Amino acid sequence: MYNRDMAIERVIDTSLHEDDNDESVVEFSLRPNNFEEYIGQQHLKTNLALAIEAAKKRGDVLDHVLLYGPPGLGKTTMAGVIAHEMGANFRATSAPSIEKAGDLASILTNLNDGDILFIDEIHRLRRAVEEILYSAMEDYKLDIVIGKGPAGRSVKLDLPHFTLIGATTQAGNLAGPLRDRFGHSYRLEYYNDGDIQKIIERSAKLLDAKIDPEAAKLLAKRSRLTPRIANRLLKRVRDYADVNGDGIIDMPTASAALNMLEIDELGLDPADRNMLSLIIDKYGDKPVGLNTIAALTGDETSTIEDYYEPYLMQLGMIQRTPKGRVVTEAAKKHLKK
Ligand code: ADP
Repeated sequence: MYNRDMAIERVIDTSLHEDDNDESVVEFSLRPNNFEEYIGQQHLKTNLALAIEAAKKRGDVLDHVLLYGPPGLGKTTMAGVIAHEMGANFRATSAPSIEKAGDLASILTNLNDGDILFIDEIHRLRRAVEEILYSAMEDYKLDIVIGKGPAGRSVKLDLPHFTLIGATTQAGNLAGPLRDRFGHSYRLEYYNDGDIQKIIERSAKLLDAKIDPEAAKLLAKRSRLTPRIANRLLKRVRDYADVNGDGIIDMPTASAALNMLEIDELGLDPADRNMLSLIIDKYGDKPVGLNTIAALTGDETSTIEDYYEPYLMQLGMIQRTPKGRVVTEAAKKHLKK
């Protein structure tokens, strides 16, 4: 039976960025550095490669870039690739860590010409911080009020010419004026099984893990079309092979490990199945509000929106309607309900 504690260890959790870079340099090197190593997202790569070449030819900085889409699809990685391809310095931060307008002002004034500033979860910028970005993005000026009340005065400073790369899982929650200031805006798509298999095989090589092509295919099918999950599954299955076998990941080991992790043939884990079951049992075909779903599972609404829903919608198991979320026949069939 599913219980909440298991959610803490969700293998399919796409949220833990640290896990991509953790512990050792080897893990860190799983991140592709350049366009060639970055698998899939062909549309994005073609467009960005052209824009980068043009900017370099003109000796200009690249226009600001917005990357959006579900977690774990490679937004942060792509930001690093852009910096590498531009030959630019890469400065990364995330919106929740920028508390005050002054924090952002200090980040901006410490940049150099040509630098790339990456802001993750950019939809979570506070309003006062966001407003500083408008003139910084538009004409590389910092427009800030120093001091409070009548003693406050407005100061304008020139900033270096930089490129902002913003990443978000919730493009719809970005303020219009901010969204309009990005010259490039791209949605990252779910990968196909073939590309995920390539990512798994590439990561296995880097981790020095031996995996059969058939086993890589099986893992790819259960990775929710998401590179972060593919890498995480690979590491967990490698652990299993090291402990229970001879370290080689073949079909029997891979499928035994996946069974142990309770990841089914569509990549759903106990938490997904639990959520779908609860909705079906309590509401049947009726639409359910996001807050109600969050109350049912005990998660934050943003967790439901960012981590459960996108893939379940991609599978056609959940639909969004104006009245709420509806669980479809496909989900009922999958859960045999
Ligand atoms: P996001 O910022 O969208 O949440 P990340 O860029 O952090 O996702 O990607 C998660 C992990 O998946 C990275 O550490 C990287 O190893 C892997 N990854 C992402 N995209 C690719 C890709 N196109 N090719 C190979 N590996 C990738």
